[in-house]
Parts: sequence; C-alpha cells; structure tokens
Amino acid sequence: MTSSDTPDRDQGHRDRMRRKKDVIDAAIARADREQGLLLVLTGNGKGKSSSAFGMVARALGHGLQVGVAQFIKGCQDTGEEAFFRRQPGVTWKVLGEGFTWETQDRARDAATAQAGWAQARAMLRDPALGLVVLDEVTYPLKYGWLEMAEVLADLAARPSGQHVVITGRAAPEALCAVADTITEMADLKHAFRAGIKAQKGVDL
Ligand code: ATP
Ligand code: MG
Repeated sequence: MTSSDTPDRDQGHRDRMRRKKDVIDAAIARADREQGLLLVLTGNGKGKSSSAFGMVARALGHGLQVGVAQFIKGCQDTGEEAFFRRQPGVTWKVLGEGFTWETQDRARDAATAQAGWAQARAMLRDPALGLVVLDEVTYPLKYGWLEMAEVLADLAARPSGQHVVITGRAAPEALCAVADTITEMADLKHAFRAGIKAQKGVDL
C-alpha cells in the first residue's frame, strides 16, 4: 500500500463517484423525450462525413431505413458509398458535380444544387426514412445556390421522428440556430499538409 493508497482515500473516491453517479442518473432521467434530431457536423477538421456515415451504420443496425444525399461529388469514390450502396435499407444519391472551381459555371452549379435539393426534399418527406444524411450541403448554401428559407422549411416539415445529419465546413448561422446538436471538428493537424495523399480507408 502506498502512502496515498489509504482506506480514507478509497472512501473519498467512493463518495465522489456516488455523487457523480447521482448527478448523471438525474440528468439521464430528465432526458425522457423522443424526437427526430437535427445534427450539424462542421469545422475545418477531418471527421465530418465519416462521423455521419458512422451514424448510418448505427441506424441500419437498429433496423432504420436511411437516405444519404451527397451534394459535392468528390474526385474519388468513397469506401462508404461502395459499402452502403450494397446494404438493403439505404438510398444513396450523389447530387452534386465537382466543386465550383472545377465546373467554373455558376448558373450550372446553382441548377445542379437545386435539382439535388428536390431529391433531398423527397427524402425529408419520406416517413419510411429514420435517418437522412445531407453530406456537404453547407457549400451550396454558402454559395447561395440553395435558398436557406426553403431548406429550413423542408427541414421543419420533415416527419417528427426523422433524424437529419448535415455535414460541411462553415455551417451557416441560420442552420445552427435550428440544430439540436452541433459538433465543430477542429483541424489540429492533417497528414495532407505533410504531403501525404488521401489514403483509402482513411480519407476516402
Ligand atoms: P472525412 O470524410 O474524412 O470525415 P470531412 O468530411 O470532415 O472528412 P471534408 O471537408 O468533407 O472533410 O473533406 C473530405 C476529404 O478531405 C477527406 O479526404 C479528408 O481527409 C480531407 N480533409 C478533411 N479535413 C482536411 C484538412 N483540414 N486538411 C486537408 N484535408 C482534409
Ligand atoms: Mg465531408
């Protein structure tokens, strides 16, 4: 037994843990409502889309049906897309083209985004979908290709039990205002800046 390893110290630890447990149990008991949630995953760090796709796996594991709408088509196909397209219960739609600096045509980008939103809206109106992921939708909002008021109205009108996850950098204020949970990924370090290209299974 070390000098700090005394029965008094053990008792103190037990008391602290009991108080902590009481506080946590009370908080759990208070959170007794069921509700479809709106989550926003934003920030410059890595992990937004992969976190959203982790929730797709969770939802499927519980037997929910899931819709995924990707607003920006990356240059490479992701492992999640290949995997989840094979799963029953998943509707996966790629609605965007490249980035605006690739298409370099504002009117075309806006038209693509609006046609994409019509498909996302259909997901938000489908009561069979327990989870809808709107991946990278912050970009068409930021560039003004989509009307914020229209997006907010469609989100508000969705079935009450449906969860929605929105990903993308620079989430607009108006979206954050109506979100239930917001996580900001911080970019503390990224391998890309050390000259390492996107790795399969990690970045795509
Ligand atoms: P992931 O898909 O890995 O969860 P993300 O959705 O948070 O990443 P995006 O902005 O959508 O990030 O970018 C997707 C791609 O860019 C991924 O390959 C990711 O590894 C990479 N990436 C994300 N953040 C950074 C960063 N800060 N610097 C360089 N590359 C990044
Ligand atoms: Mg992403």
